[in-house]
Amino acid sequence: MEDFQGIILKKMSYKENSEIIYLYTSKGLISVLVHGSKNIKSPFLNLTKILNHVKVITTGKNLRVLKDGEVIKNYSKLHENLEKYTYLMHLSELLYYFSTHEHDHEKLLIFLIKILEIIIDEEDYIPYINMVELKLLYLLGVNPNLTKCLVCEETKNLAFSVKDGGVLCDSHAQDSSYNNEVVKVVRKLYYHDINLEPKLNVDGKVLKDLRNLIDEYYEYHLNYYSKTRKMLKGLIGY
Ligand SMILES: [Zn+2]
Repeated sequence: MEDFQGIILKKMSYKENSEIIYLYTSKGLISVLVHGSKNIKSPFLNLTKILNHVKVITTGKNLRVLKDGEVIKNYSKLHENLEKYTYLMHLSELLYYFSTHEHDHEKLLIFLIKILEIIIDEEDYIPYINMVELKLLYLLGVNPNLTKCLVCEETKNLAFSVKDGGVLCDSHAQDSSYNNEVVKVVRKLYYHDINLEPKLNVDGKVLKDLRNLIDEYYEYHLNYYSKTRKMLKGLIGY
């Protein structure tokens, strides 16, 4: 028997009444078959919800099967807010997609648990989602350069170029660059330490540019675009 703790990023139906959950743990992603979890009388009916923070005991080597489990924290309250829920589905899709990449999973899991705890009650939750997306770039080895112009090393009035993967000064920036207001926010979120300061203050005006910048960056440098993003666009308008 083995035991794991983590966040459920995805689940799939299996046969008539069962499900396979994809759990993000400190060692990366594992899949666990939960027999009969869709049965109304199943003790695990509420365990297999996406984003739940759970502890599981499993048997089996090739296919792990749930023996016992408990919910450490239930985030089903998040389902009440469609926009927030969709943002989180977008995030879990992203984390699932890159979960097989070799990086510090323990660090990311601890960070993710903290972020979920904040987001559940936070009205201005979007910057926290953006923060995970930006910090993940570092773990994926495609971190943006945010300190000085990539050409001349100027440090003031920098704009951001997705294709160049970093900042450029007034003289070297192109029309397609994101302006300095966005750069300031990207830098703030990228370097922010949630342990020292849980509260984030981000001007809502830059959220649209920030969203586009992150999407373009993932698409250009990692060839990734989430499916949930389309649904999100329908809700937020961009
Ligand atoms: Zn320059």
